[in-house]
Amino acid sequence: MAAENKSSAGWNTRSWLNLRTAIQALAFIGFLALFLNAVPLLMRLDPLAVLANFISGRSLPPFAFIALAMTLLALIFGRAWCGWLCPMGTLLEWISFNKCRTKKITIPDGWRSVKYVILIAIILAAVFSNLTLMIFDPLTIMVRTFATAIWPGLDLAVNAAESLLNNVPVFQAPLARFDNALRPLLLPTTQLSYPEGWIFAVVLAAIILMNLVAERFWCRCLCPLGAFYGLAGKISLIRRRVNESCIKCKLCEDTCPTGTIRRDKDCSSDPGECIVCLKCMDSCPCSTSDFGPMFSPAKFNSYDPVRRQLFLGLGAGAVLALLFRLGLPSKQRNPYAIRPPGAGEQDMTAKCIRCGECIKACPTGAIQPSQMDSGPEQLWTPVIVPRIGFCQYSCNACGSTCPVSAIPALSLAEKKSTIIGRAFIDRDRCLPWAQNTPCIVCEEMCPVPRKAILLHTVRTKREDGGTMLLQLPTVQAGRCIGCGLCEYKCPVEGESAIRVTA
Ligand code: SF4
Ligand code: SF4
Repeated sequence: MAAENKSSAGWNTRSWLNLRTAIQALAFIGFLALFLNAVPLLMRLDPLAVLANFISGRSLPPFAFIALAMTLLALIFGRAWCGWLCPMGTLLEWISFNKCRTKKITIPDGWRSVKYVILIAIILAAVFSNLTLMIFDPLTIMVRTFATAIWPGLDLAVNAAESLLNNVPVFQAPLARFDNALRPLLLPTTQLSYPEGWIFAVVLAAIILMNLVAERFWCRCLCPLGAFYGLAGKISLIRRRVNESCIKCKLCEDTCPTGTIRRDKDCSSDPGECIVCLKCMDSCPCSTSDFGPMFSPAKFNSYDPVRRQLFLGLGAGAVLALLFRLGLPSKQRNPYAIRPPGAGEQDMTAKCIRCGECIKACPTGAIQPSQMDSGPEQLWTPVIVPRIGFCQYSCNACGSTCPVSAIPALSLAEKKSTIIGRAFIDRDRCLPWAQNTPCIVCEEMCPVPRKAILLHTVRTKREDGGTMLLQLPTVQAGRCIGCGLCEYKCPVEGESAIRVTA
């Protein structure tokens, strides 16, 4: 049975464990609330995102002091973020597969160094003004996946369930109440579609399934944010301590979710790996371990970033970053990759942390994560795909949500006159131009006050030999802001007859 390890405040270990469980749950609810309301605080809490953005963009992102405060807290409490607050860590703890692992697999210590290699590669690439590797940050993974897969997927599932249940009279009134009261708070207001969302779902599923190998495999071996906090943990003030009365019973070693306690090392642990979950204190039958102030830096281990193999990783990161910087792996830029209002190409590469906050914020689902078509250095940066969604004329949500100003925060007036792209008409596909068929959808839809689509009336031949008046649309380039509403609404099947280019 666990000992009643009393603290000076009269709390026992179990109370602290309960507090941690409650804080984890509250933090996860907080993550969901921030996500649903498109408040980018989560990314501002991420010191790795802020540091990488600062190095890469050569300027401090807004509210950088929040990340600085998190770093200072890490210098006091080590990797407590991972054990108490991180939404990815909490998810991995909730879906730990602890009962499915029948035998203990020992992870080679060297694997822990991978997270430091990723961390160093992120920082090095940032030095070369590239943030592509931020795709490995756990908070960007969470927001991206929720925005493009989980949230729209939940919407689809609820819609399917509703259409089934609506056939049963007794459910109709509660469903109507749900639609009026809860749906606007919890689900998208329009049906959103992210064709690549499955990729992010697979990545998150793979991270969770790694728990089958070892508890918190991701946190032990791969997470670059965990590595950042781990380095702070090495010199943090509050650390786990073990006194001489330890009987080496191995109970704490078996309980530790990051496998950092080693009986062959006097049951000590590495503060760079310890996530301050307190489970070891709870499992200890003789109260020999506790957390308290320690002043000398922790010993470095073979997997810490001081060894040869990590310098090799550093070299690999530098080569990768240089390749990105020189654009060697890039293909030619996709002319249809139009950016959210006011965002420049350079800002996308150098400032965008690939968090997906703008994707979540965009009410029409216009913003999609870009694929490899403009080269790997642009991977998962936001692009507007008008055939999927258009940029709403009276909306500036993406700029006001972007946590690092990669998309500038424009006032509505500024946004309305910001040129995102230019539309052009493909006369081989346009119904009036190509088939003598009347259609003025693009002109009707164009939201700019002085329409950017003009209609020229011509007399033309009908199929029966008679004549008719036909209106031919043309784009007034000087007025078009490239919002994509015309492309979105164009009734031509497949590729639109009017398209927006950068
Ligand atoms: S290691 Fe990474 S994912 Fe795990 S808890 Fe820490 S920051 Fe979160
Ligand atoms: S400004 Fe346009 S692209 Fe940005 S969120 Fe609004 S509708 Fe979407």
